[in-house]
Amino acid sequence: MPRRWLLLVVVAALLAAFLLLDLGRYLNLELVRSQQAVLRGWYESQPLATAAAFFLLYVTIATLSLPAAWIVTVAAGAIFGLLVGTVIVSFASSIGATLAFLGSRYLFRDAVQARFHERLAAVNRGIERDGALYLFTLRLVPLLPFFAVNLLMGLTPIRTGTYYVASQLGMLFHTTAYVYAGTQIAQIRSVRDVFSPGLLLAFAAIGVLPLIARKAIDRLQARRVYAGWPRPARFDRNLVVIGAGSAGLVAAYIAAAVRARVTLVEKHRMGGDCLNTGCVPSKAMIRTSRLLASLRQARALGLRRAEADFDFGEVMERVQRVVARIEPHDSVARYSALGVECVQGEATIRSPWSVEVRAADGTQRTLTTRGIVIAAGARPLVPPIPGLEEIGYLTSDTVWSLRTLPARLLVLGGGPVGCELAQAFARFGAKVVQVEKAPRIMTREDPEVSVSVTERFRAEGIEVLVGHEAKRFERDAGEKVLVAECEGREVRIAFDSVLLALGRVANTAGYGLETLGIPVSGARRIEVDEFMATRFPNIYACGDVASPYQFTHVAAHTAWYAAVNALFGSFRRYRADFDVIPWATFTDPEVARVGLNETEAKAKGIACEVTRYGIDDLDRAIADGAAYGFVKVLTMPGKDTILGATIVGEQAAELIGEFVTAMRHDIGLNQILGTIHVYPTLAEANKYVAGNWKRARVTRGQWAVLEAFQAWRRGETGVAALLGRLPALFSDKRRAYDDPALDKA
Ligand SMILES: Cc1cc2nc3c(=O)[nH]c(=O)nc-3n(C[C@H](O)[C@H](O)[C@H](O)COP(=O)(O)OP(=O)(O)OC[C@H]3O[C@@H](n4cnc5c(N)ncnc54)[C@H](O)[C@@H]3O)c2cc1C
Repeated sequence: MPRRWLLLVVVAALLAAFLLLDLGRYLNLELVRSQQAVLRGWYESQPLATAAAFFLLYVTIATLSLPAAWIVTVAAGAIFGLLVGTVIVSFASSIGATLAFLGSRYLFRDAVQARFHERLAAVNRGIERDGALYLFTLRLVPLLPFFAVNLLMGLTPIRTGTYYVASQLGMLFHTTAYVYAGTQIAQIRSVRDVFSPGLLLAFAAIGVLPLIARKAIDRLQARRVYAGWPRPARFDRNLVVIGAGSAGLVAAYIAAAVRARVTLVEKHRMGGDCLNTGCVPSKAMIRTSRLLASLRQARALGLRRAEADFDFGEVMERVQRVVARIEPHDSVARYSALGVECVQGEATIRSPWSVEVRAADGTQRTLTTRGIVIAAGARPLVPPIPGLEEIGYLTSDTVWSLRTLPARLLVLGGGPVGCELAQAFARFGAKVVQVEKAPRIMTREDPEVSVSVTERFRAEGIEVLVGHEAKRFERDAGEKVLVAECEGREVRIAFDSVLLALGRVANTAGYGLETLGIPVSGARRIEVDEFMATRFPNIYACGDVASPYQFTHVAAHTAWYAAVNALFGSFRRYRADFDVIPWATFTDPEVARVGLNETEAKAKGIACEVTRYGIDDLDRAIADGAAYGFVKVLTMPGKDTILGATIVGEQAAELIGEFVTAMRHDIGLNQILGTIHVYPTLAEANKYVAGNWKRARVTRGQWAVLEAFQAWRRGETGVAALLGRLPALFSDKRRAYDDPALDKA
């Protein structure tokens, strides 16, 4: 038997013995009162031995959390008097509480944290920050029973030393009160005689005092950062937003919607990265490249031949027309009509309350403001690879100006941007070589996702070179060459153009962060707290400049918190939650994810069950000539609660929506299975994966019961036949049937 179980059994046996033998009957006030003289006699004749025996008894009672602690505490007063009694009980109860806490930690913490890791993340953070205060208050205002506090706190990351000290201090007040009551034992009849409502109120007041003090200290600290920055008596604006990308636009919109006076400063183009150089142009380009890929599939779709006559330059012109078509959504005209003051120019934060704007013509103005939201975005990472500057390069900022297709395109980077653009260019006819330092592309996803995408890329003629590190660029006989290193050997790759897709770095320099001492984190983003606030409580940051996820929808999500907290934070602040963040990579096959994947679950030690459904088996996918990919769902062990989902296949980004809603609103796989999905659609894949999950949980025993029932209904079953099925009833939880046809049932 594992040691943990042994301990659990011993504790359970001791508790059971206490209850079954009714040992509690020896621990009552009457007995203490009647035996007080004898007990005191013992103490007077053998003070050390009596105190030690009492101490051990108390520790045992506290460790096992037996419901007798208050009587024994009163007894301490009756036997030892106020001072000695308080000292004995204070140490014994704290040691007992800590032992119970350690027991709970040893028995349950790993399992509970592994299972509910995501949900407990916020609790863990709170405990790490303010655990001592919470515990002190819990001890002082005993809303939770003694044993529950020990049990629950054992599951958290609070340090044992902190637990001991906070418990001892928190319990000292009660201990003293009970021990004092023991010195007056002749007058008390029950626990109510020890605690008057007035005394309880006083404890409650002492209990919340530290929390109030903590809040006051927080406020004082927050004020201290403003030292040396004189605060204007009045502000021209409620909010200045720096950057009119996805994040800045949402922040400004929210401010205008709640009638704040808001100024949005943009130094380049309204709409930022997403509209001008990111999501919109890339998806417009991918649309045309997909059409080309479909045409190449013509024979498979029953056509003899289908060819496209196209000019790459015209395709890129259409991309710009798409951008222009969407531009009005993010335009100065639209935002001005919404009530936002839009200012063209470069913003620099001069003080926590003022932002200077320099226009293109050199004119400057200073805006005073109650709050600032920084939404300055990110830019492509350009690493200092020798020879790169001399040879010239493209990034996601500049690639859109191409009008001639490079014959040989080298794509550096195997992340989402690199993969989307590598495939699009290859489909237009460029000979694409994709170079990635890691052992696989799309490293953020599970290895099987990388395999699916890599296989398709290679089938389409893209040369995917993983484990290749770019070392330098050279010119060789007039040709541009990348010299890369793979397993210690040099590899030379000739190309005509190189596209850098090596990640994006937040814009954190040159607009005042340095002067104000606003720190940038190790991940080279603006350091913000859970409210998206910088070290200045009135300066917030959102979007790519501060967010761990660089997506448009996350930029908008974080912008909501930044704007609302900047405008209303003095009254109520909202914690940005990153619990259910979906994203997609628009390659073919498309890849979409929400929540955990298997790799992350393993790395974080989170227990989960994995269920798959192969889209190659889906009717609609077969009809569409898109029978490839899979849906993979992670659930809590033994439950249908979804921890994460990954979809690879046609329209994965649309299909993931159902799992996003499910996770956000605690809908489990049982409910997805119980939902009618239109036939024939790709969305049925979501239902079928839920079906696979359900079937995997039917045991052979359950199937055997059903078979026996049906046989009995047919009048076939005799006692012998029923007995014959018995072994199956006790078999393990293995799947009874593995017939894919059942997926459709
Ligand atoms: C090729 C590509 C494809 C992408 N595809 C997708 C996709 O399909 N889906 C998705 O969700 N995301 C996608 N993204 C990511 C997405 O574009 C970004 O996450 C999003 O645009 C970030 O928005 P933001 O507001 O934080 O920053 P940005 O959009 O970069 O906006 C920041 C703005 O701040 C301005 N600015 C900076 N400093 C100052 C200053 N001092 N004064 C005034 N203005 C300033 C900049 O000019 C810029 O306009 C893609 C990105 C790329 C590169």
